[in-house]
Amino acid sequence: MVTPNSAPPSRILLGPGPSMTDPRVLEALATPPVGHLDPYLLQLYREEQELLRGVFQTHNEWTFAVSGTGTSGMEAVLVNLIEPGDSVLCATNGYFGERLADIGSRCGGNVDRVTRPWGEVFTVEEIETALKKKRYKLLTIVHAETSTGALQLNIREIAEAAHKHGALLVLDTVTSLGGVEVKLDEWDVDTAYSASQKCLSAPSGLAPVSIGPRARQVIQNRKKPAASFYLDINLYANYWGGTHAYHHTASASLHYALTRALQLVVEEGLEVRFARHRRNGEMLWNGLVDLGLPPLIPLDHRLPVLTTPQLPEILDEARIRSRLLEEQNIEIAGGFGELKGKVWRIGLMGYSSQPQNITRLLDALLLMLST
Ligand SMILES: *Cc1c(COP(=O)(O)O)cnc(C)c1O
Repeated sequence: MVTPNSAPPSRILLGPGPSMTDPRVLEALATPPVGHLDPYLLQLYREEQELLRGVFQTHNEWTFAVSGTGTSGMEAVLVNLIEPGDSVLCATNGYFGERLADIGSRCGGNVDRVTRPWGEVFTVEEIETALKKKRYKLLTIVHAETSTGALQLNIREIAEAAHKHGALLVLDTVTSLGGVEVKLDEWDVDTAYSASQKCLSAPSGLAPVSIGPRARQVIQNRKKPAASFYLDINLYANYWGGTHAYHHTASASLHYALTRALQLVVEEGLEVRFARHRRNGEMLWNGLVDLGLPPLIPLDHRLPVLTTPQLPEILDEARIRSRLLEEQNIEIAGGFGELKGKVWRIGLMGYSSQPQNITRLLDALLLMLST
């Protein structure tokens, strides 16, 4: 029984997020909150923005952490860029690509899709062919598709194709940011969003968002204000910069935690961090192959931070997942949509990406597959 006083279990979180949190981040989370206009918090925002620009590899002035989870980042970008009737092209090869299409329609966009089966990724040519069909205002694409474990390559070329045909590129970097390379400026990405609880390893509740110059102009020149007050990027820009006008009571605690987590990313160094995720990903893949559960995604576009081992049909995969949780305190996730029952989703994100966690998981799987 869970009573209000019982401590949560100490899980090893190896699912698609949230990832585990470094004790130093938890310490920051537990420090006393200040008011949403306290000079301390406004100063912290400045540091947080600089750190976010560092991990996004951008100089975009409009780089904030929006209140809410990754989905609020998604909604913020789309509700501010789309005006009713705008044409939007959504590249969908998994669950999150489809969620962008769903939100795009809710924002009043005329959504077309270019699709690929789950687990595959797009070539630049097929994106460009789709972009030629009409004059799209936006192209949306997911960098790291957490529902399949596929990494979309060639983002720079995709951005170039979008711009050639007059569209802005919206990039979902929820699972890639802090785990694999993301270079907004070099790739010329117009807007990207992420989440605090995946490879950045902070608690969930904030969505880093970065808006480039072309997208900023579109947002500043809207005919009508965005349909969402809460996610209005113009109002965010006033609160974070300029006049610091009250917009909403942002959670100081979550900003402390995210800023601390970002400091740890910078301390580790981006390149070192990506190499760590890669090395640990390879360790997991080798172990899974030895268990007869090879990764579904081919090596050339396989994500090191989220692996989808293929499961034999006879395996009672749900039972093994619940045994992992109950007996070993290890969380992994099942497949869903087109991959339901066919794969697991094993995340090695941020603080969770450590060799001893992989060893614990592989040892537990070996035991459970043989009994
Ligand atoms: C997790 C995730 C989201 C949604 O983030 P939430 O924090 O769950 O709202 C969006 N896109 C991708 C690729 C994700 O993995």
